[in-house]
Amino acid sequence: MHHVVRTFSKSSHFNYDKQGKDWNVKVGTEQSPISLEKEKAVWSVAPRLKFINYNKTLSGPLKLTNNGHTVTMVIPPVDDGNHPSVCGCKLDCIYKAVQLHFHWGSPKSKGSEHMINSSRYDAELHILHQNYAYALQNNAISSPDGFVALAIMLRSVPECPNETPGILDKLFVELNRVRDYNTTSTYEGPFCLRDILNGMERKEFFAYRGSLTTPPCTETVNWFVFPNPVDVSEKSLKNFWLLKDDRGLPLLNNYREIQSLHQRTVYYRNETANF
Ligand SMILES: [Zn+2]
Repeated sequence: MHHVVRTFSKSSHFNYDKQGKDWNVKVGTEQSPISLEKEKAVWSVAPRLKFINYNKTLSGPLKLTNNGHTVTMVIPPVDDGNHPSVCGCKLDCIYKAVQLHFHWGSPKSKGSEHMINSSRYDAELHILHQNYAYALQNNAISSPDGFVALAIMLRSVPECPNETPGILDKLFVELNRVRDYNTTSTYEGPFCLRDILNGMERKEFFAYRGSLTTPPCTETVNWFVFPNPVDVSEKSLKNFWLLKDDRGLPLLNNYREIQSLHQRTVYYRNETANF
């Protein structure tokens, strides 16, 4: 799993001043993020995505790190030593959850990477999964079926004083401890990935072939983008706006600009699709 960190830090000299327009990356015709529209997608009744070990508690410690581009958490195995994974839908392989991270906006702008029906959500969570067939990150990064990324839209809602905070609201308290570049904080509470998805419609999603949205932007990702958001409190999301990049500047609007679809097909899975 350390390969994830190492490979991504190699390309660490980039920022979001121009939303990625100035990145020195070789791009093809399957880049991410893209703009997604239900009406333009090909509706499908493909099998559901299967979430394996998503309901089990991750073994600690859970470390959140400000790497200058985002806040990232390496996903450890669950308590019994197995890993949270995904398979199903039209995937041929099983993909192991390796890390999660976030993209956000600013006090004046929303910052999801994908656009859904022409609008952005406040923030976007990516859970990156690596194909079990590739033990090494470098092999996954150069293979078309190297990764699965789940994209979860985050919607800012006013705080409800009587409601127990959700798992992300709890996690986002830690953001105050990683405001500076290269700082790490440990989340002590129990955490299972399913808690993030609770309350979100998991049976409906967009699916398309794309790329990593950070350098090297290789076209090795099967994207699953859930259009129904997870609610997080306004107060928690504000914690993102206080983070700093490796220059000591506010780390805001860390999303890449929308890429062209080219000849790709975007699928929209919906069990109620009527053919
Ligand atoms: Zn991302």
